[in-house]
Amino acid sequence: MLKYHNYDIVFQEIPDEVTLAVNLTNCPHRCVGCHSPHLREDIGEVLNEKAMDSLLKKYGKQITCVCFMGGDGQAQDVETMARHLRQHSSLKVAWYSGNTTLPRNAQLFDYVKIGGYQANLGGLRSRTTNQRLYHNINGKNVDITERFWR
Ligand code: SF4
Repeated sequence: MLKYHNYDIVFQEIPDEVTLAVNLTNCPHRCVGCHSPHLREDIGEVLNEKAMDSLLKKYGKQITCVCFMGGDGQAQDVETMARHLRQHSSLKVAWYSGNTTLPRNAQLFDYVKIGGYQANLGGLRSRTTNQRLYHNINGKNVDITERFWR
């Protein structure tokens, strides 16, 4: 079961999109220098179709994208939510994953970020980062990480 700690409308996580970023909890990763240790706990509100519909009702007209931040411990549930968004909205769908490889069903997402946080390499805005953001363009995952370096 997915749970979320909070959400926010953000402008820089996904290039060219106004994104509702939903911070999922129960993170299974243990990155050294983790920037959000509370997201590793089993806390927060349940995120299911009903909860997502309620968020869309509230913010759907202000945003162009929904991004799931985390959720690697419940990948199938993240994919279920992505399918729900595709069926019930025209919003882009993104996933900030801490895994090192693209998800099996990456085609469900317009954008996928992969790579755990390594403090010595930095996040996406660092040229030395190990993280990558892929944009699904006509079924092909194109690495657009350098968009963060301009
Ligand atoms: S992916 Fe890493 S940095 Fe992000 S919440 Fe999990 S442990 Fe922390």
